[in-house]
Amino acid sequence: MRLKYYKINVALIIGFAIIIIFLLLKIDSIIHNNLYSYGLQFSYEWANPYWLYLRLTLCLLFLLCITSCSLFYLSSRETKDFEYIRCPICHKKIPKDSNICPNCNYVIREKQS
Ligand SMILES: [Zn+2]
Repeated sequence: MRLKYYKINVALIIGFAIIIIFLLLKIDSIIHNNLYSYGLQFSYEWANPYWLYLRLTLCLLFLLCITSCSLFYLSSRETKDFEYIRCPICHKKIPKDSNICPNCNYVIREKQS
């Protein structure tokens, strides 16, 4: 159950990071398309730090997305391993709640009533 909430949080982080990237690119398009018609004068004095901070922010958000995706992938793998057990006879993965191995018909435990 805790793993489920963990995965939801990681998915939310990925979603928020993607939304932030989209909004930053929108702000960038306002500067490049709209502000010049309101008299913005281009100068490397403001453009260089602006580009630097914009690119650093985009890089960090991209790294956040990659880190979150890898965490999501790793948590998915843990869930899959967690829901299976190994048959003591044939050593194949079988669902945790099954009583009989579907591969070799070994009775793992008697059905509980
Ligand atoms: Zn088996």
